[in-house]
Amino acid sequence: MSWIDVLGTYATRKRATRGHQHVLYIKHKGSAWAYSEDTLQAPLHQFAHRVSTSNSRRCHINAFLGFAAQQNLPLLLDLQVPPRMRKPCFSYDQVWAWAEHMVLRKKCKTEQSDSDSYGKGKALFFPRPQESHASQSNYVQGLVDALTLKGALYSPNRELRKVGILAAKLALPAETQRQAPLIDRSAFLKLTRACPSMLAFAALGWRISAFRAIPMISQEQQAMTFSVPTQKSCGSNIEPLTIRCQCERYHAGERCSLCSMPVPRVDTVDYGTLKRFGATGHSPRRSLAVAFRVVGGDANVDFDDEHVVTTINRRMMWFRKGTARPAKGLKMFNRYSQDHTAHPQHKLPLFLLKVAAELLRKGAQRIFVDKHNNSVQLLNVNKRALGPRFTGRQ
Ligand SMILES: [Zn+2]
Repeated sequence: MSWIDVLGTYATRKRATRGHQHVLYIKHKGSAWAYSEDTLQAPLHQFAHRVSTSNSRRCHINAFLGFAAQQNLPLLLDLQVPPRMRKPCFSYDQVWAWAEHMVLRKKCKTEQSDSDSYGKGKALFFPRPQESHASQSNYVQGLVDALTLKGALYSPNRELRKVGILAAKLALPAETQRQAPLIDRSAFLKLTRACPSMLAFAALGWRISAFRAIPMISQEQQAMTFSVPTQKSCGSNIEPLTIRCQCERYHAGERCSLCSMPVPRVDTVDYGTLKRFGATGHSPRRSLAVAFRVVGGDANVDFDDEHVVTTINRRMMWFRKGTARPAKGLKMFNRYSQDHTAHPQHKLPLFLLKVAAELLRKGAQRIFVDKHNNSVQLLNVNKRALGPRFTGRQ
């Protein structure tokens, strides 16, 4: 056995989407290795059914490599292994030291110092808010998995692994969920002008990973159907979602949301574009939830109504655990929209208000759009009062 030093400390590449990518260059007696999130992710892990699983694993590896570089961790080379198969290894101690580092860092960190470091582009050991949905303790497990599968962990040991991961889980607090920033009216206009596919992305209200993984979109007459990729915590296949034209539900020839959006190209929806307009990957989803709440609130929609609950959960894809049936309560919805009083209709994108109104509309209700005040209303109208224009279809 021999401990070897990491030479050339570390290199970073600035990425458009998240922080820096750390690369460790290791040289030892004529051999050289480069460890990065690309080389340390096991090929088997790349077959995860969701792209985001694979991405978050890369994120764990990258965070650890940043720590390894900063602390200048020495690596271990097992000389009993034939030279051709030798690989510099990390040790369990180093993984636990990283977990400890995260615990300590979290404890002395404030929200303020956190957002400062994002702005200045300092090396990050934590993901950006848009990627921190999972609890921090997953980091340790994800890393140990990757190192083990890649043969970059010295002497894998089931007992050590179990004890260490459990300790890290107990020590690392579950990440407090930070809310993604809402997209206001003017930012939404600019965003959708720069990338028209954002309209469909925002109208669906799905996670960006789900949207980008949509396998098929079919356009029918006055309808668009989106196949749904497999979802987090959802065991079965989800029925495709169809959005239908609702122009005839509007007053004064207003076009419905479907007729005001192009068929999206899912790969054009990316973090970089959202970031340019002050949004994160989760912002459109959050904004739609708030639009639901605000439009529904203004129209006295009963949020306890089973149909309303199902409609919202189906659209936003909040399912009962392990199934493709919409959740029963509005727990997630309430969490997403808890600050709705700070976002009255006139601040929100009109397009999203229309999407919300179309979904919450009941029976004979019509949608009135007040462009001047940037608001929509759901009104029960007397057909005759509107004149012959509306008596045809109902
Ligand atoms: Zn329409």
